[in-house]
Amino acid sequence: MIRWDQVGEKLEAARRAGRGVVLATHVNADGDGLGSEIALYYFLKSKGHQVAMINNDPVPKKYTFLKGTEQILVYDEGRPRELIRDADLFFVLDNSSPARLGRLLAPVKEGSAFKICIDHHADVDPFWDLNCVDSNASASGQLVYRAIVALGGAISPEMAEALYVSFVTDTGHFRFSKSTAEVHRIIADLMEAGGISPPKIYRALFEGVSRGQVCMVGWALSDAHYDYGGRFAWARLTRSQLDETRGDDEDTSDLVNMLLAVEGVQAAALFKELPEGRTKVSLRSLGSIDVNRLASKFGGGGHTNASGILMAVPFEQAVRLVVEEARGILPAA
Ligand code: 5GP
Ligand code: MN
Repeated sequence: MIRWDQVGEKLEAARRAGRGVVLATHVNADGDGLGSEIALYYFLKSKGHQVAMINNDPVPKKYTFLKGTEQILVYDEGRPRELIRDADLFFVLDNSSPARLGRLLAPVKEGSAFKICIDHHADVDPFWDLNCVDSNASASGQLVYRAIVALGGAISPEMAEALYVSFVTDTGHFRFSKSTAEVHRIIADLMEAGGISPPKIYRALFEGVSRGQVCMVGWALSDAHYDYGGRFAWARLTRSQLDETRGDDEDTSDLVNMLLAVEGVQAAALFKELPEGRTKVSLRSLGSIDVNRLASKFGGGGHTNASGILMAVPFEQAVRLVVEEARGILPAA
């Protein structure tokens, strides 16, 4: 049971005390993180709260069409740091892992805000004072929708569009297994609130790709490897390839799904070479094959069918380690 009543009490106390609320999402924000954050922002504004959104990174270009993104502050040591340290309440959306707050972690630890996590990952971290977590939710936006309803709010067109982006992002356009009847009922409600143009959002999120992104897809797919009887597919993007196309993290999110779409493949990994001897791994799987278990072995996390790892291990070594360990999550052949 999620304690939305406790969230309501904390919000009311902050409002009465005239103190601020800060919202944040994970590093390299995606559509669910941003959509959840923005919808909650407009809801809290409508309730008269002093509220700020502060993220570790700038909003990726493809999301800038979304109203509210222009209100998001990128963390720096000046005003954003003060806002976090002085806040009465700190919400993190779509993230349970303190490390994935990036540069916000230090000021959050320094401040005295009550910390609330709204997320749909399986892991619950004791770092948060209150966890509003449901791993059956398709997107964190689904939980923000429930919060708004539970706290007596009405869905405005701005909230509706932001939440629609959350759902579209994390359900893979309503095709993943958590695209339940509840999800489709919520979508109907969001559509009725107005402000949503599905073709506009589809174009913004999935089309209008740069020529560089097309190259990136070509490079990655031509590097596809198939191990363990063709059940595990993986591919790499090197630093020089990523630099050449100047792609941000979001630009590669569909690539790993392309590997998973191949006949016989049950789990897939995309490896991206990061600066300073680090590696980003994106993992996807089908059915009960648990890539979260694989990610957790290397300090990553996520969901059963979609997880990620940020490894402080050089590229080729990271590839070897993860590919070797992937054998363990596949059913005995
Ligand atoms: P993606 O492959 O799209 O970056 O991530 C897939 C899922 O895995 C996301 O929902 C995200 O929550 C989780 N994830 C990605 N990277 C990390 C990471 O470095 N640490 C943890 N704990 N989770 C991650
Ligand atoms: Mn999410």
